[in-house]
Amino acid sequence: MANPPEHNRVTIRNATKRFGSLLAVNNVSLDVKPGQVILIIGPSGSGKSTLLRSINRLEYLSKGQIWIDQDSVTDPRTDIRLIREEVGMVFQNFHLFPHLTVLDNITMAPTTVKHIPKGEAQETARHLLERVGLADKADSYPDQLSGGQQQRVAIARALAMNPKVMLFDEPTSALDPEMIKEVLDVMMDLAKEGMTMLVVSHEMGFARAAADTVIFMDEGQIVETGSPKDIFENPREDRTKRFLEHIL
Ligand code: ADP
Ligand code: MG
Repeated sequence: MANPPEHNRVTIRNATKRFGSLLAVNNVSLDVKPGQVILIIGPSGSGKSTLLRSINRLEYLSKGQIWIDQDSVTDPRTDIRLIREEVGMVFQNFHLFPHLTVLDNITMAPTTVKHIPKGEAQETARHLLERVGLADKADSYPDQLSGGQQQRVAIARALAMNPKVMLFDEPTSALDPEMIKEVLDVMMDLAKEGMTMLVVSHEMGFARAAADTVIFMDEGQIVETGSPKDIFENPREDRTKRFLEHIL
């Protein structure tokens, strides 16, 4: 396919990723519309992270293509900086720069990748910190913050690039239970504001409140796709049913 469908925010066609003889992602195709919030569930090792990481080229596909709007992620001629601008990613373990303050963590990419003047980047960063409820933490260092606060900084940092799509890979899995809600609340606000999101998570509350679509992956493939109600209350596939018995 030379061009992706015009109204997609993210287009994935026949995405395949091998690690040696292992097929981590096996011929996955997916259309994501602007503003859509897709939740990806599935057992450990089913290829969820590899699929997300392929969308911002942390992994190169072995086969297949991915676009953000009309920009090809998988074309090696596409500048990695463009991809870093268009796609924000939040990881399980926050990945903040430990030697930088919260404010500097957030302004780093906009000033170095996008060449936004420092003062302007700092102003944006302070707005974003306000949005995630951490206006008073601008001058703190990551290790002075709780896990939930660090993850909210990581979200603000990703948003600072003004991305077209946000990827979340098990954003609450490393958090103590009392901190999960503060992170999910920020994610739900983002979803309400119309951000396009792909989220790997087994948080049912988020799924029901914010996801339009749930995808169940197993062995590198999309086994079943549907609304949260379809998938959680009325799954069609045996593999989906068996998996849900473990997590619900
Ligand atoms: P999930 O996120 O669903 O747990 P992953 O995408 O992390 O699954 O992994 C899918 C499969 O690919 C697993 O079998 C995993 O061990 C393997 N895998 C992931 N990354 C690598 C890598 N860098 N090298 C080799 N195998 C990998
Ligand atoms: Mg994973």
